[in-house]
Amino acid sequence: MNICGYIPESVNEGDGLRAVVFISGCKHGCAGCFSRHTWSFQAGELFTEKLQQQLIDEMKQNPLLDGITIAGGDPFFSAIEVASWIDRIRQQLPHFSIWIYSGYTWEELYTSSIEGVQRLLSQCDILIDGKFIESQRDVSLRYRGSRNQRIIDIVQSEIQGQPILCQSSDIGYKSADINAMTTLT
Ligand code: SF4
Repeated sequence: MNICGYIPESVNEGDGLRAVVFISGCKHGCAGCFSRHTWSFQAGELFTEKLQQQLIDEMKQNPLLDGITIAGGDPFFSAIEVASWIDRIRQQLPHFSIWIYSGYTWEELYTSSIEGVQRLLSQCDILIDGKFIESQRDVSLRYRGSRNQRIIDIVQSEIQGQPILCQSSDIGYKSADINAMTTLT
């Protein structure tokens, strides 16, 4: 597995102050994708165990961080390796919230038979799901590029067996948004 980027502090990929890592590789091929340089699984550098621990150590040194966001590419194409790294993050940074992006929908991930995918999903707190759809592009959305994409509370979704939108006040969903998005599912 390679990574093609790391941001030690960001407020653009989830609530609070977050580290962000970009996992190389994506096969979704969304028209209008802003991250075409991440499509190759060879992009960036090898995410060795040493580098994985180095980033964890760096995050430990920053008391202001609320968590980490795993972006891409699509990290679910490297689900087994990403899940192993998250195990180490959970052990060493138990207070961290973990957000993750995917071009797959929650429903596709939740019912996937691909090894590691369901495990990776259940390790994270928040999923931003779905492909980028150019005709639904909306620059006013927080953390998302198009209106079909949802910010999903993974724990609540697993409990209820259906996608539950994150109700965080920071995200700024209005009840009309929630009603509209619920009808998409
Ligand atoms: S899922 Fe994301 S990275 Fe992959 S093609 Fe779509 S917009 Fe680009």
